[in-house]
Amino acid sequence: MAKLYYRYGTMQSNKSNQIITTHHQYTTQGKQCLAYSTPIDTRSGYRKIKSRIGLELVCEYITDTIYDDVKAIHEKNRVHAVVVDEAQFLSKKDVHRLSDIADDLDIPVICFGLKTDFRNQLFQGSQVLLELADAIDELKTICQFCNKKATLNMRLLDGRPTNVGETIQIGDEEYVPVCRKCYKERLGLD
Ligand SMILES: [Zn+2]
Repeated sequence: MAKLYYRYGTMQSNKSNQIITTHHQYTTQGKQCLAYSTPIDTRSGYRKIKSRIGLELVCEYITDTIYDDVKAIHEKNRVHAVVVDEAQFLSKKDVHRLSDIADDLDIPVICFGLKTDFRNQLFQGSQVLLELADAIDELKTICQFCNKKATLNMRLLDGRPTNVGETIQIGDEEYVPVCRKCYKERLGLD
């Protein structure tokens, strides 16, 4: 039985690099791996995943027909894996369809994304993935301000920490990974 995976991390936790590497590992063995991202993230340009160390991967955007699309490709030419970037922006239905790809088509689906936003609230896609995924892994990085493990994302507005504003914000420059202690201290929380 194929699994639905969720690999989550904070900003700068190497997610894009990991997804590109995972895709590369399949394709160098001659195994077809389909790469998707969520249409809400156009930061990388049209249908392209970019990592901070300069790797790139062309991908499709997730749509309502994701299950049928993967099934049709799989019937012609076996699909060995599906990878999904920016999975925090998936809808509940998207995640259900991805779980059907694992369960009914027996294709592993590996999702990468942010767990929480800068207000430290779960993204919808992350919530459903945490509820449904068979395997959940944390991609680790260190706090911007100390050497502890970062577990939260801090929004910097004009260089100053804030936890107000729109939920969905794109643009790495304004977001940094922080530990819980620094998050509370810098935002003046109890
Ligand atoms: Zn810290």
